[in-house]
Amino acid sequence: MLFYGDWVYSESSGRSTIVKFCVLASGSSGNAALLATENTRILVDAGLSMRELRKRLASIGESLEAIDAILITHEHSDHVAGLPVLARNKEVRAVIYMTLLAAPAIDWGETPPARLEAFQAGASFQIGDIEVQSFGIPHDAIDPVGYCFEAQGVRVGVATDLGYVPESIKFHLRRTDLLLLEANHDLDMLKVGPYPWSVKQRVMSRVGHLSNLHMSDYLMQDLDSCTANLILGHLSEQNNHPAIVQMVAAEAIERRGLETRLSIASQKAPSEVFQY
Ligand SMILES: [Zn+2]
Ligand SMILES: [Zn+2]
Repeated sequence: MLFYGDWVYSESSGRSTIVKFCVLASGSSGNAALLATENTRILVDAGLSMRELRKRLASIGESLEAIDAILITHEHSDHVAGLPVLARNKEVRAVIYMTLLAAPAIDWGETPPARLEAFQAGASFQIGDIEVQSFGIPHDAIDPVGYCFEAQGVRVGVATDLGYVPESIKFHLRRTDLLLLEANHDLDMLKVGPYPWSVKQRVMSRVGHLSNLHMSDYLMQDLDSCTANLILGHLSEQNNHPAIVQMVAAEAIERRGLETRLSIASQKAPSEVFQY
């Protein structure tokens, strides 16, 4: 009976456990997102200044000091701009996770941080009660990765900064309850937009950024029906517009007959806090 009682207790406490996800900023001027359980808090990317990161965390009732780990996707400045300062700060106790090849590309200052865990792209590991799976992404950085997280039975996928969605990534993003996916540019806007031709070619390439068209193809063919929340992010300020992204994605979701809730992440302010 005692055993049964204990079991019922753990079941009910399991149900009350909350997994939170919030995109603090998304776009070419800075990226950061928070994934938190009751016991573990992870930041994905540190592309904001420490001051801005602190401010945005505070706005959702979180603090920088409580972060256990900072996981970096790649070394482009919109993902690591705040990292060297965070690494040196004594009040920040977060362990920094990044790939073996990308870590030396950061300008750490005099010495690399003591709290650095370099991992092989594709590795999976555990941080507190969050399981982390990294996977390589096609992007013009040294060793870029996306992440899939699992905590309390909730799966969260993060895939931005990728030229296209290869089969291996489709595999990793299956069965996600929440997915942050890139919707970087509208092809027509990019073509007539202000970027020099070389930059346009880079953005459009298979190691550039995901277009609305490729995002829509993914939604039409691969988005899992169990993905309750889809957040589209890393929108180009010059070559895209949230209204276009909303329209393209809503159409694909409707044609699939899915009930996925759609949100668009912003550069300027944190998203809502998604809770499970
Ligand atoms: Zn980026
Ligand atoms: Zn990038």
